[in-house]
Amino acid sequence: MIKRLWFVFLICSVGACTSRQPALDAAVVPPPATPPVLLEKHPKNVILMIGDGMGISQITAGMYYNGNRLNLEEFPVVGLHKPYSSSNLITDSAAGATAFASGIKTYNGAIGVSPDTSAVKTILEEAEEHGLATGLVATSTIVHATPAAFIGHVSSRNKMEEIAESFVETEIDLFIGGGKKYFSNRKKDKRDLLKELATKGYYISDYTKEPLTEIVLDYSKNLAYLTDEDSPKTEKQGRDFLKPAAQVATNFLSNRSREKGFFLMIEGAQIDWGGHANNADYIISEMIDFDETIGAVLDFAKADKETLIVVTADHETGGFAINPGSTMEKIKSGFTTDYHTGTLIPVFAYGPGADLFSGIYENTEIYQRMKLAFGFRDQ
Ligand code: MG
Ligand code: ZN
Repeated sequence: MIKRLWFVFLICSVGACTSRQPALDAAVVPPPATPPVLLEKHPKNVILMIGDGMGISQITAGMYYNGNRLNLEEFPVVGLHKPYSSSNLITDSAAGATAFASGIKTYNGAIGVSPDTSAVKTILEEAEEHGLATGLVATSTIVHATPAAFIGHVSSRNKMEEIAESFVETEIDLFIGGGKKYFSNRKKDKRDLLKELATKGYYISDYTKEPLTEIVLDYSKNLAYLTDEDSPKTEKQGRDFLKPAAQVATNFLSNRSREKGFFLMIEGAQIDWGGHANNADYIISEMIDFDETIGAVLDFAKADKETLIVVTADHETGGFAINPGSTMEKIKSGFTTDYHTGTLIPVFAYGPGADLFSGIYENTEIYQRMKLAFGFRDQ
């Protein structure tokens, strides 16, 4: 929760940005929409939940398979966002997460940088500057594109060891995910970033030391927990940390910053991987795992009453379809691609400020409206 004052914040108005690969006419990006409502009450906490690759069909298949019921149905406000990036109509997760984190359209592969590769401040960094607690949780490595775009500023998502260094440079309060090797078994240099974080006062732990749920939480220290050496397993292979991680994170962050609140991003990363694999069972099991986590976060928000939850995806993956011949229990799936598609993406909101998220808008508006909900002003 210490300010990062050296930061140079380059405001890149979307229309003025020059893209590396200008596949899209900048003129097609309209100016930011006027939010549809004025806020009566600001949330203290904002939790952004990203189901990577989670389009409408992924949600639908998960819902039917889960007995025609998802926790997502409890969200009173639904909107749609336009997921394209500055370089491609079909975004990747790096550009998609940078749009959510920093409110700019950038090129595919960019992590927290504009089309000219200048660093752009993220909502997590702004929350830190305002004295809030912050956290990232993911079922991928924690240096993977989606979480990375909230904390890192590198020209390419593939620079994972560089992204890991961002966790030492930022005062993030909590992070839970895979990718221990990018911190302490590095090819680029001999640094042990987990040791460096411990020296900074973090409580550091990992899957080899203790189960996440058995950590005795010390709210006076930041917390880092690495769930795997590299990518976490699939849910079907036994990965079971997402829901407990969300519970640990909400409990920890709300105690860590009782007055000012927190910003937390939780990612169900592998719905996307099921889409890339054109594997409906993989998509559905990851979708249900993510929805159970949504249920746990809803329980926190219902008790807390000061938390805004926004659930969305960066893009759809697979062109996944529920074809004729399907039943609720057995989807007859179809796929148009093993990559992402360009379809509109749903947004679900619950809690104070939820009304801001109705309508159809650019993916960059997720950032703008979270910022509006928090009441942050440009500094
Ligand atoms: Mg991702
Ligand atoms: Zn993907």
